Amino acid sequence: MTRGPNRWRPETVGPVKCFLLDTGPGPLVGFSIRTGDPADTGGDACLSPFPNAAIREAQRLRALVTLRQVHSDTVVEVSDSEFVSDAVEGDALMTMIPGVGLGIKVADCLPAYFWDAGLRSVGLAHCGWRGTAAGIAPGLARALSARLEVSPRRLRFALGPCICHDCYEVGPEVAERFEDLDCAVRPSPTPGSFRLDLRAAVRGQLLALGLHESSGLQLCTRENPATCFSHRRDHANGRNVAFIALR
Ligand SMILES: [Zn+2]
Repeated sequence: MTRGPNRWRPETVGPVKCFLLDTGPGPLVGFSIRTGDPADTGGDACLSPFPNAAIREAQRLRALVTLRQVHSDTVVEVSDSEFVSDAVEGDALMTMIPGVGLGIKVADCLPAYFWDAGLRSVGLAHCGWRGTAAGIAPGLARALSARLEVSPRRLRFALGPCICHDCYEVGPEVAERFEDLDCAVRPSPTPGSFRLDLRAAVRGQLLALGLHESSGLQLCTRENPATCFSHRRDHANGRNVAFIALR
């Protein structure tokens, strides 16, 4: 098991176990840890579609909003704490409202967390291979930069857990979508297959825009059944929830 840097610490409040990133005076940045028997892929406190209320309560947020995720490049701004979860399609969220949490549900896909140096905004992107190839993370960075009227250099990002490149075999039709991010794709021992490094792909896109990277939580979702749901391992509906909020 790969341990993340120790700026991410586990915390339990009521039924909700999370990793939280120490951002100093920065935003609340977290990742829900699954509870219960790893063999049980349902009935879990972290299981979508019922995690929002439990996490919102545990972290004392006014709201925790999620999207109907469709592996798109659509960025949605939450400008109202009455925003209805799962009613809008999209794969990245941003807000300037303190106390309104943004949530992304993941089981192998990479959550990318964003905030600005002036602590006026937060954002969160759902990065699977389709969204990453479509530029969801740099799209969110550009949207935040435009909304705040600041350079992307004023933005920070942190990467959450995801399936690691050793566990993520893809075909040539996926690999060719990452031609201009060649650090992200390597040949696999399986003939005709490739290994995709989602983390390297998203990091490459964001560093190229000039963003600064904070400590990531480097867990492989597929290799850590006690902590993480994994679509490729479980073929089930369980999801961890990545969340961020301005304090
Ligand atoms: Zn792995």
